[in-house]
Amino acid sequence: MNVSHQYDDTVVIPSLKHQLGLFPGTDVKPAKAGTFFSAPEITLDYDMYIVGFSSGKDSIASLLHLLDLGVDRSKMELWHHDVDGREGSTLVDWRFTESYCKKFAEAFGIPIYFSWLEGGFEGEMLKENSFSKPHWVETPDGLVKLERDTERAQPGTRLKFPQVSASLQTRWCSSALKIDVGRRALTNQSRFNGQKVLFITGERREESPNRAKYNQLEAHVCDRRSGRLARHIDAWRPVLEWSEEQVWDILRRHGVSAPVPYRLGWGRSSCMKCIFNSPEIWATLREYFPGSLDDIAGYERRFNTTISRSKISIVDISKQAKPLVIHDHEALLQAVKKEYDLPIIVPSSQWVMPAGAFSHGSCGPS
Ligand code: SF4
Repeated sequence: MNVSHQYDDTVVIPSLKHQLGLFPGTDVKPAKAGTFFSAPEITLDYDMYIVGFSSGKDSIASLLHLLDLGVDRSKMELWHHDVDGREGSTLVDWRFTESYCKKFAEAFGIPIYFSWLEGGFEGEMLKENSFSKPHWVETPDGLVKLERDTERAQPGTRLKFPQVSASLQTRWCSSALKIDVGRRALTNQSRFNGQKVLFITGERREESPNRAKYNQLEAHVCDRRSGRLARHIDAWRPVLEWSEEQVWDILRRHGVSAPVPYRLGWGRSSCMKCIFNSPEIWATLREYFPGSLDDIAGYERRFNTTISRSKISIVDISKQAKPLVIHDHEALLQAVKKEYDLPIIVPSSQWVMPAGAFSHGSCGPS
């Protein structure tokens, strides 16, 4: 049985049957209590609300939806994982992301906490017969360094780019730079013990066949509600069933200006040099950000492994398509600056749909 069928059979279908009332009178139980394939509305009686804030439109929409539902912003916090770390690498992310996140949080009066894997994407990729580096987590009490358990872990070697794949094993960037960091940030802060926490992320089913199968509400993997720590954490994906139209509409209603990547024409706001970028986006990077592919091209030669599974170098891929034509010069100027200095909120009369909206073909799934 392939993995997705197994998942359907063991998680999705039982969960659906439970919601549709197909189990009464039988001894068949739902896959897991508290797991719901579809849960667009839930009781919002949590002590804390953590929003996984990538700075893309779907994480923004999730936050705005919580505000529309009346969640008290004094119980909210935003979490952002720095993909390049904070040690100086600039291999994959946009230069302005950290500043944008800070200014966004400031505009909404909600605290933001950053966390990262030391060395970021580049450091992890260069791991050679060694242990992964520590995680760093900002907390209300200051910055915390979380060391690795070198007694139990095995040293490893990467020396290649994450592979374009739905599997988090080979597409290691999402797991090593985001998911693991978030999990350790949850399990290493005693302030969550004895609390009821809602962890919110902005995936949407429309984005990929993999996301189409996600549950909308379930116990978070770090949940320990029945354990000694009484740490109750639910994971909720409030916009999972939303269309892209609904996402842009909530940004427009709240006057949140489209983040820069969409204004440039990108369909997603992920890492600038995301492994899922289409030939058109790589061509645009080569055209408008000269030299931006050099580091990646150099690593492809050094590893003798390309990002593309078809073994075509990033430079050749960038020649397979025509670049986008960028008309938004304000966004283009911002794209090369570290400090974000465009408005976060604009009057409704000035809100514009960005060039990248509804351009589904520009990027693959994250
Ligand atoms: S946005 Fe792309 S490159 Fe960045 S972590 Fe996600 S999959 Fe990896």
